[in-house]
Amino acid sequence: MGQEGVIHMSTRPTALLRRIEEHGEPPVSERIRARLQHANQRYFANDNIAAFILEGEVDELRGEVEAKMAEVLKSLVIDTESDHNTQGTARRVARMFLTEVFKGRYQPMPTVTEFPNIERLNELMIIGPITARSACSHHLCPILGKVWIGIMPNEHSNLIGLSKYARICDWVMSRPQIQEEAVMQLANILQHKVKPDGLAIVIEADHFCMHWRGVKDADSRMTNSVMRGSFLKDPDLRREFLSLLNKKDR
Ligand SMILES: [Zn+2]
Repeated sequence: MGQEGVIHMSTRPTALLRRIEEHGEPPVSERIRARLQHANQRYFANDNIAAFILEGEVDELRGEVEAKMAEVLKSLVIDTESDHNTQGTARRVARMFLTEVFKGRYQPMPTVTEFPNIERLNELMIIGPITARSACSHHLCPILGKVWIGIMPNEHSNLIGLSKYARICDWVMSRPQIQEEAVMQLANILQHKVKPDGLAIVIEADHFCMHWRGVKDADSRMTNSVMRGSFLKDPDLRREFLSLLNKKDR
């Protein structure tokens, strides 16, 4: 009987072993997706999902994307084995997506230290132009542009270092984006962090999906703005912001 048991174990794996053998461990993207769904958390292209990614999993994701990207190149009938130009393309694209151009989905928000407004500054501050680099959600084509931020502080506002505006902007833009949504996301974060009396953001960007494909010669530049608080209520302040912005290098 003992003999029979041994034979049984060595020739037929248990149900669990068989399942792992057949399907393997679920891919890392599936594990992350399961956590997001369990938490009822949206995971659109321009959402940040860093809180649902465990240590080391971005590297795993990179491997998964690389393998899938290699399949895309194969389906495009590109001989990546002989063509020295495309030999490392799947790896490079995976790295670019996860650690560069879409890193704003996978990395937590940059740390920003807020200082109380001890000097009670209440003068219009303009930050910009900040370079905005993004990609459209529709075609994953680059979007390159500039962002200007106007802050009207009051005594309850927090102040953050100038370079932090650029960092937060980069974090929001480094995702597949829709320009109108990007500017709202940026406004919501700054509103929350700085708590200004008024907040104004203008973004002007060039959409490469218009140059590169489709209508090609169409005017591909798009401008969006958000005005909140005193910028909405006070037309003079709004004019001051926009005129200062026009004087600046654009
Ligand atoms: Zn597009």
